Amino acid sequence: MLFFEKIKKNYLLLFAIPAVLIYLVILLPDCRGRETFDEESIIDSSDVVTDEYGIEITALTEIKGKVKNNQTLSDILLPFNASHELISGMLSNSKGIFDARKIISGNNYTLYLTNDSLQSLNYFIYETGPIDYVVFEFTDSINVWQGSREVTTKERIISGKIESSLYRTLNNINVSDLLALRLSEVYAWQIDFYRIQKGDYFKVIFEEKYIGEKFVGIGRVIAAQFNHWGNDFYAFGYEIEDKREFFDENGKSLRKAFLQAPLKFSRISSSYSNRRFHPVLKTYRAHLGTDYAAPTGTPIMSVGDGVVLEAKYSSNNGNYVKVKHNSVYTTQYLHMSRFAKGIKQGVRVSQGEVIGYVGSTGLATGPHVCFRFWKNGVQVDHRKEKFPSAHPIAGEYLAEFQSRMVHIKNILDKTPVEIELQPLASEIKAESNRKL
Ligand SMILES: [Zn+2]
Repeated sequence: MLFFEKIKKNYLLLFAIPAVLIYLVILLPDCRGRETFDEESIIDSSDVVTDEYGIEITALTEIKGKVKNNQTLSDILLPFNASHELISGMLSNSKGIFDARKIISGNNYTLYLTNDSLQSLNYFIYETGPIDYVVFEFTDSINVWQGSREVTTKERIISGKIESSLYRTLNNINVSDLLALRLSEVYAWQIDFYRIQKGDYFKVIFEEKYIGEKFVGIGRVIAAQFNHWGNDFYAFGYEIEDKREFFDENGKSLRKAFLQAPLKFSRISSSYSNRRFHPVLKTYRAHLGTDYAAPTGTPIMSVGDGVVLEAKYSSNNGNYVKVKHNSVYTTQYLHMSRFAKGIKQGVRVSQGEVIGYVGSTGLATGPHVCFRFWKNGVQVDHRKEKFPSAHPIAGEYLAEFQSRMVHIKNILDKTPVEIELQPLASEIKAESNRKL
């Protein structure tokens, strides 16, 4: 294979130079006699430099860049002695591996040119993401292969007290915002993240993904405890038949029949009330819904599985969707800027599915979704309802779940409420100044 030939060639170079030096040393008049030179000990393996993509880069010049807006492969490579012929070769040789026409602005690339006066292009590496990349090797032909960096997962335990928001607390202890989103998903059915209050606290065992020292994302949430308004909510991740879900300490699913809210993050701009001053009509009337303010275009999710009863426009409601979940519950979402693709009367939707986007159509002063909830045909405040939970852990798995849960719960319970980046395993180093 050409790739190995190249390595061999470079090895030869590496061997050749020290060999000449050794030869000279040996031939010097007061040479050190019979001292033998073991090639292995002379060629220090650290002389062979390999880059982050596993490419041997001795005697190559490295050029790194980011794909600019509207930049094509030709724009990037033509200034570096690449021919049009080479570029079309790249496109055809990478077929089935990677579509080289689809390079995305903002992604990283690396070029390697020879160190000599020719400065010929030896490698082009394009990063398709933080983990995966594609290597183009230019020898007599063009070799293309995909690679991925090794991702290491570190388990961490953190805890924090809410001062204003979960985001702010996580930022203060140098943890990625992404964990806030994960926690909001884990607790979507238990905790109204719009109503968490100062003094609420949490402890989370979770995974962070790294490439080398670089943080690249949040892995799984292993377990969590969230103390909300003085009540403990535990969550333990457990996988049954390839499906991972969160259960409480009694093996009950944290998933309920309905989501707490139709938006992931927003703020309640107007609660359900039997008498409120209407901002547009300027009169007091009942507000039989909950308004969630969010920027126009924010996705609106169906709070449960169901069938779309209506998806249409009316002068008061604007664009709205009404979903029938079962014989008991129906929900409605008003003032949408537009419907999600395929949302129309009679279509099945699942819990968490995006059905439309926040807007201010109809009788609305600003972008928000007015969320309405019917129980047995009567409008109710969904935030005061207690919803049934999804299936608990089946009997045959319960014993195993219990024993693992007890162990993890012990770790959570023993963790003080305010700690700084406490490592869970001894090999984990606390990184205090890392900006995520
Ligand atoms: Zn409303």
